[in-house]
Amino acid sequence: MSWDFKDIKNWKTGDHPIGSIIPEPATAEQYRTGGWRSEKPIWHEDKCTHCMICWTFCPDSSIMVDDQKMYDIDYDHCKGCGICATECPKDAIDMEPEEK
Ligand code: SF4
Ligand code: SF4
Repeated sequence: MSWDFKDIKNWKTGDHPIGSIIPEPATAEQYRTGGWRSEKPIWHEDKCTHCMICWTFCPDSSIMVDDQKMYDIDYDHCKGCGICATECPKDAIDMEPEEK
């Protein structure tokens, strides 16, 4: 389907075509965004102090925590933005090309 946007500035509310429909709520977890990654965060447990700064900053809730300690990275949903590696004060996360 293609839309004709030539007159978009004059569209009224009801003139906008339907873009997408979300048939049920809370489905984000089912959508594995890890396939978007070009770089992958590698966690070095030996350097980690479990300060949770990476958990605070991760936009995809991909820092896995149990009993207030980080234990892994959720690669099904991590998009590889690198914020965790940038913010970690202990250099406990490196970014590597996804092919490795
Ligand atoms: S920011 Fe670094 S030190 Fe803190 S929990 Fe994350 S990996 Fe560990
Ligand atoms: S690379 Fe980005 S999405 Fe992945 S764990 Fe780090 S902050 Fe979260």
